[in-house]
Amino acid sequence: MTDALLIAGGDEPDTGSGVGSGSSSGVGEHLLHADLHNHTLLSDGAGSAEDAFASMRAAGLDVAALTDHAYGRSEPAKTIDDEGWRRLSKLADAADDPGAFVAMRGFEWSSTSLGHMNVWGGDRWIEPLPLRSDGVPPASAIPDEGPPDAPAAMLAFHDWLAAGDELISFNHPGRERGRFGLFRYDPRLAERLVALEMFNRDEDYLFEGVGPDGDLSGPDGEVRGGGLLSPGRTLSAGSAGGAPAAAGGGARGGGRARCRRS
Ligand SMILES: [Zn+2]
Repeated sequence: MTDALLIAGGDEPDTGSGVGSGSSSGVGEHLLHADLHNHTLLSDGAGSAEDAFASMRAAGLDVAALTDHAYGRSEPAKTIDDEGWRRLSKLADAADDPGAFVAMRGFEWSSTSLGHMNVWGGDRWIEPLPLRSDGVPPASAIPDEGPPDAPAAMLAFHDWLAAGDELISFNHPGRERGRFGLFRYDPRLAERLVALEMFNRDEDYLFEGVGPDGDLSGPDGEVRGGGLLSPGRTLSAGSAGGAPAAAGGGARGGGRARCRRS
């Protein structure tokens, strides 16, 4: 899950007190509370998709997205499918309230080996390439291909993204050791890959678990902690046009589902 403050462009200072402040005024700069990463029972979350938007709105959010896991064939019990995707569309349309509450449909592209990425604002979804190393049964799997900085599944996902106009994020970087093909850069996506999830549940992906030289691998090659940056370095969170910052609080409603480690 992500609790984020988003500051939209404008020329007036924010005068709100936080929750809900973004919904009351017109032109200018707004402080919005958004939660852009949530799972429901349509994948492996803990709450009903039908309750989720209302729950998040009641908790004071201005913007909310449902981003159920898209594992596909690697985790058939934990993935969204076409029917779920259509239901999310109806729910987001019904919950969206122009000028007061933004309800968005999205999904979390979920590769066990390469990482998870949220995709927002499109009318399509896709699962990762069915890799043998991700647990896909051999009969329907493809061999794992490609070097660490250009794995086949990452390239295929980039090609798919390049054909659309969705916004995209890196989620909990380092939880999966492939790190998005070592954060492979694709100029076709540079304007739309706009966010990085720094905190997820009680996990810190910005500061913790990083070695003194920035090396994230332990002596046996395992990834230590989830930290992204080495000490002394800073990250401009504003690869996202605005300046998102993690914040505590946010929705805790009953319909809210949790992002699970897997
Ligand atoms: Zn995830």
